[in-house]
Amino acid sequence: MLDGIRDAVRKFLGGSSSYDVAVEEFIKDLQKALISSDVQVKLVFSLTNKIKERLKNETPPSSIGRREWFIKVVYDELSALFGGDKEPDLNPKSLPWVIMLVGVQGTGKTTTAGKLAFFYKKRGYKVALVGADVYRPAALEQLQQIGKQINVPVYGEPGNHGAVGIAMRGVERFLKDKYELIIVDTAGRHGYGEEAKLLDEMRDIFEKIKPNEVVLVIDAAIGQKAFDLAKKFHEASNVGSIIITKMDGTAKGGGALSAVSATGAPIKFIGVGEKIDELEVFNPRRFVARILGMGDVEAIIEKIKAVEDYEGIQKKMEEVMSGKSKLTLRDMYKQIMAMRKMGPLSKILQLIPGMNMMGDIPEDQVKVGERKMQRWISIMNSMTYEELDNPSIIDKQRMRRIAMGSGTEVEEVRELVEHFNMVQKTLRTLRRRRKDVEKLLGQM
Ligand code: GDP
Repeated sequence: MLDGIRDAVRKFLGGSSSYDVAVEEFIKDLQKALISSDVQVKLVFSLTNKIKERLKNETPPSSIGRREWFIKVVYDELSALFGGDKEPDLNPKSLPWVIMLVGVQGTGKTTTAGKLAFFYKKRGYKVALVGADVYRPAALEQLQQIGKQINVPVYGEPGNHGAVGIAMRGVERFLKDKYELIIVDTAGRHGYGEEAKLLDEMRDIFEKIKPNEVVLVIDAAIGQKAFDLAKKFHEASNVGSIIITKMDGTAKGGGALSAVSATGAPIKFIGVGEKIDELEVFNPRRFVARILGMGDVEAIIEKIKAVEDYEGIQKKMEEVMSGKSKLTLRDMYKQIMAMRKMGPLSKILQLIPGMNMMGDIPEDQVKVGERKMQRWISIMNSMTYEELDNPSIIDKQRMRRIAMGSGTEVEEVRELVEHFNMVQKTLRTLRRRRKDVEKLLGQM
């Protein structure tokens, strides 16, 4: 199970064997955990090969330990399997949009239909539900109750067992009434041995109502069976996206990975509870961090991110010093965010080649207290990009607006702008002095 990965991460980070041996061991553990979660062997090997490849070709930043960096690589590559940094596309591409939910009984399909309806209703869509799960006696009633709770109409035909007809009539009705988003709940597996029949019915509904999107709902704890199951549903109805339910009850995720690899469809949401609003937009990185062991991994990711930000700032300062680029408030914003982890601007300035030779960097001028920094972050959050990139346009009127938006005083906004002007002036002076030093060095 994927739980094994968390133990492997811990063992790897805390282990006493040499780095190379530990890497080999970890990769074996990772492969074992993924394969026993029924992730395809081919997928597992392509993942671990990619990890090894990166280990060979890349070097960690100097201030990051090799082991930590390795975990970051694993985290990156696993995240990529789940969609990486791509935000799931949540808005319907056209209207009206018909969604058909498929999945095994008991996974939380009906509950999820309600959650989705609620989610999109809040986003301003005119939403309706169709109850075509005719085999579970209480399914329609359950859907109607949810509908009432969130004020969304539900189409159903109590007593009628013709799921295909119900789905068609429901969709037709709501299309006629100009509903924008129509969510169709279908039957899950109803007794063993009837699976083939169920899948035929699924295909039938799919062909008749021609949904814009088929959503496969699967239970996070399903593990082993997920791949075949997802594949079967995919063959019957062309799965377009996936929702994993019951993520609150388990830290497993192997099934999710298998479902993704069986269908090629992205995960869009995860269910994290029984309540109507307990639906989260899927975030690959958070999901993988959970699989790897939140505590251990998050700290590493943060640290590496801070180093990368820091290096980014260093580069930017270099450009500013050589006159290639101008310092903006946006840079200062980034700098403040990084500096809270890495130390003050004066320290950053010292990193600039040639700068440390000049000694007296006016530290007191660039040092800012933590509380003030918090206020400044709020202020900068209330500024437009235009203002951040070109602070000279911030006049009295803008200051008032920014203060209001950030819950601060106009005086504080002014202070921030003045601080920025001062930093710029300091930089100009330093730039001149560096030129002088360089000239001097050149003469020598
Ligand atoms: P269906 O047969 O697929 O329609 O499943 P239901 O919607 O009736 O859900 C089956 C059970 O799972 C119910 O008790 C739901 O409350 C519960 N459930 C659904 N989604 C979640 C979830 O994300 N987290 C938890 N903890 N329970 C869920």
